[in-house]
Amino acid sequence: MAQIFPFTDPVAVETTPPTQFVRGNGVRVVDADGKSYIDAVSALWCASLGFSPERLTRAMADQMGKLAYYHSFMGRTPEVADQLAARLIARLPGMERVFFGTSGSEAVETASKFVRYYWNAKDRPQKKRIISREGAYHGSGQMSAALTGLTYCHDGFDLPLDAVLRTGRPHYLRDAEPGESEADFSKRRARELDALITAADPETVGAFIGEPAMGAGGVILPPDGYWAEIQNVLAKHDVLLIADEIICGFGRTGEWFACETYDIRPDMMTLAKQLTASVFPMSAVAVSGKVYEAIEALAGKNGTLGHGVTYGGHPVGAAVALECLDIYEEMDLPAHVGRLGNLIADGLARLRDAPGVLDVRHSGMLAAVEFNTDALARAVGEEAERMGVFFRIIGSVLAIAPPYICTDADIEEITSVMRKAVEAQAVPQ
Ligand code: PMP
Repeated sequence: MAQIFPFTDPVAVETTPPTQFVRGNGVRVVDADGKSYIDAVSALWCASLGFSPERLTRAMADQMGKLAYYHSFMGRTPEVADQLAARLIARLPGMERVFFGTSGSEAVETASKFVRYYWNAKDRPQKKRIISREGAYHGSGQMSAALTGLTYCHDGFDLPLDAVLRTGRPHYLRDAEPGESEADFSKRRARELDALITAADPETVGAFIGEPAMGAGGVILPPDGYWAEIQNVLAKHDVLLIADEIICGFGRTGEWFACETYDIRPDMMTLAKQLTASVFPMSAVAVSGKVYEAIEALAGKNGTLGHGVTYGGHPVGAAVALECLDIYEEMDLPAHVGRLGNLIADGLARLRDAPGVLDVRHSGMLAAVEFNTDALARAVGEEAERMGVFFRIIGSVLAIAPPYICTDADIEEITSVMRKAVEAQAVPQ
């Protein structure tokens, strides 16, 4: 084998090589043996328009024919990148400028560098530490992996970094005290955050980063009042808020952005994945007017913004993203995701009382079934795979985030396979 595989056990892979995929067919992927699977988590929560999106192929080919590559450094930019920026700013709540990159990790790296730049511009050079949460996933770069709150991303890499502070995750079901209401749990998380910032010295804390609804940490949806409480604490200590919308952005939770679903007013937003439906690698960091003014002031003083990547604002990615926006608008994204999300919820509802099931939850088309044990989640996930549907196994959770192009019949197939895979576990072998 010649590849080093990401997030893979290198010993196991020697005896069980990865399944090779050769073709996409709508919401399905086909492996080298011809077996077809519905990917019910849109691959890595990202292939929002499935695996053979003809309009995106055409948009890509058209742009390749016009201008296959150009950069955005030093007074030049592809016209199409500028068009995309304007379309995004018109959509993004409270944001005034976007900076383009190529991956989600890179967007988080940029946002965390912008935190430093912002506080340097404000002449408060100590205010640089960033708070993230246990269970968070923010990427695989140096800082983005340090911000990630999953220890398997740190092992062997000398992470996390001193610049990162960690606070508790908003997992009501697992982490609440006996008898604690959701609202009280949210208040407790906010008090803990307040205590953390106070103990660290607010003059050393520059930002807080959070996924509006957590993905890779196990589809953790914020409990009642959570974001309002957290934002009060951040405002009190003058701490910037970065909303990592890399999974949630572009409709996943039933609004265009999860910041709208949960009434979050961030200073920066990170975007990737569904920005291009993942058929072209592209990401963006959006910043508010307040943040942009500071960046502009310091970069103006320095003579340049000393930050950028070769493929940032790639014209082919920009053309694909514009086509995605057209498609999302034509499907009336919030209404469409709301309707399919309800179908998912209906299809899973009767699992609530199934043996071994702890919880069934959803926000738009981001859903999860949580089991009492990791072993049961794994057994159900593997059974579903044999039946031709991929869910993402995350400890005791099976995550569901299907492509938006699912038909009602596809949703029925996904939820009925989940039900049958759960039932199969209850039957004595
Ligand atoms: N942030 C979040 C919330 C993510 O889910 C991910 C990827 N799953 C990233 C950042 C990193 O994105 P990428 O893998 O494109 O670097």
